[in-house]
Amino acid sequence: MLGALLLTVTALAAAGGHDRPVPILMYHVIAAPPPEAAYPDLFVRPSDFAGQMRWLAKRGYRGVTLRQVYDYWRDGSALPARPVVVSFDDGTLGQHAKAGPVLRKLHWPGVLNLKVRALDSPYALPPWRVRALIADGWEIDAHTITHVDLTKVGDRQLWQEVRGSRTVIRRMFHVPVDFFCYPAGRYDARVIAAVRRAGYLGATTTNYGLARPGNLYVLSRVRINGSDGIAGFARKLDDLTR
Ligand SMILES: [Zn+2]
Repeated sequence: MLGALLLTVTALAAAGGHDRPVPILMYHVIAAPPPEAAYPDLFVRPSDFAGQMRWLAKRGYRGVTLRQVYDYWRDGSALPARPVVVSFDDGTLGQHAKAGPVLRKLHWPGVLNLKVRALDSPYALPPWRVRALIADGWEIDAHTITHVDLTKVGDRQLWQEVRGSRTVIRRMFHVPVDFFCYPAGRYDARVIAAVRRAGYLGATTTNYGLARPGNLYVLSRVRINGSDGIAGFARKLDDLTR
């Protein structure tokens, strides 16, 4: 019975193909922007974030990890009808303190692109907060150690940043760390080659758009700005998916 059911599910997945594009949202700081913020658009108010997640849930979206998307693209593993990846860059306090509870209530995982240096600061994301996110089902991916522009460093530092960040995060948190995120979206052929060689299955950029399975090492994302509010957020998603 279960076997037959599984066969049916697999057949359905195969019939529908498994190359649909998926929105990967890109968030930075989840907090009100301080008046002196140099880049206020990197700050999304916690109330806006909560409203944006409510908007998604009402539209039938369901949060998934990048690994789930990868498995769906690769072999047709099941995905919700309207999947969305909610990704956060760097590792900042509000990602756990403010975004964490919103996603937990929805039973959605987040995806954290962790800069190793963020672990050193109690005002960023100390290890206990990362562990709490992992306990909630979050996927932890690597975002280098120092957040350097990888196209500007020598081969030795490139390898330390790319491979070294994976090693550190794996050792500290015992999670797979299968995906990479380029700091400031900066990459070139040499950087991509290092990311592949370090064993990552794919990598996210700051290129705007839906993520598609064509090139897993240059996955596009949908940048969410502080100025988007809920209306601007809805417009972005609607424009991309119409
Ligand atoms: Zn970053």
